[in-house]
Amino acid sequence: MRYHTHIVSSLAVGTGIAAYTPVSFTIAYAAGLTLGSLLPDIDEPNSYIGRRSFGVAKQVNKAFGHRGFTHSLLAWGAITIVLLLQYFSPFTLGLCLGYAFHVLADYCSSQGVPLLWPFSKKRYRFVITYRTSSFLETLLFYCFLVLFIYFLTNGAIEDSSSIFLF
Ligand SMILES: [Zn+2]
Repeated sequence: MRYHTHIVSSLAVGTGIAAYTPVSFTIAYAAGLTLGSLLPDIDEPNSYIGRRSFGVAKQVNKAFGHRGFTHSLLAWGAITIVLLLQYFSPFTLGLCLGYAFHVLADYCSSQGVPLLWPFSKKRYRFVITYRTSSFLETLLFYCFLVLFIYFLTNGAIEDSSSIFLF
C-alpha cells in the first residue's frame, strides 16, 4: 500500500471510531493517526517516512528487513503498552491506532505481514488481498477518502472548538 492510502485509510477508520465512540476527534488525534499510519514502514529506506528518517530506516532495514519486526503484533503491542500506559494523550492514542491500521492494511495486501515475528517468519495475509499500486488500491483510496469526509462531517467532531484540544 502506498503511503497516501495508508494515511487516508487510517484517518477514515480513526475518524469513524471518533464518530461512534466517546473518542474525540482533535488535530492531535489526527496527527497521531497520520504518523502511526506511516511508522511501520520505517524499515524501508525508500518509503515515504524512510526517506525522511535521517538514516534510521537504513539501520532498521539492515537489522530486520522490510516488513519484518515493525509489521508484527509484538512491535505494535510494545509501542501501544508504552505509549498508552506512560504517555496517554489523543496524539498517542491516534498513533497506536494508526500503527494498527497500517499493519492491518498490509495484512490485506498480497505480500502479507509476519504477525507472529519473532516466533515465526511466516507472512500472514487475509483471504481477500489487493496488490500495491493496483487499480483496486486506487479504488480503496477513494472509498476511504469518501468515508473520511463522511465521518468528519457526520458526528466525529462534537463542536468545532474542541478539535484544538490536546
Ligand atoms: Zn507497511
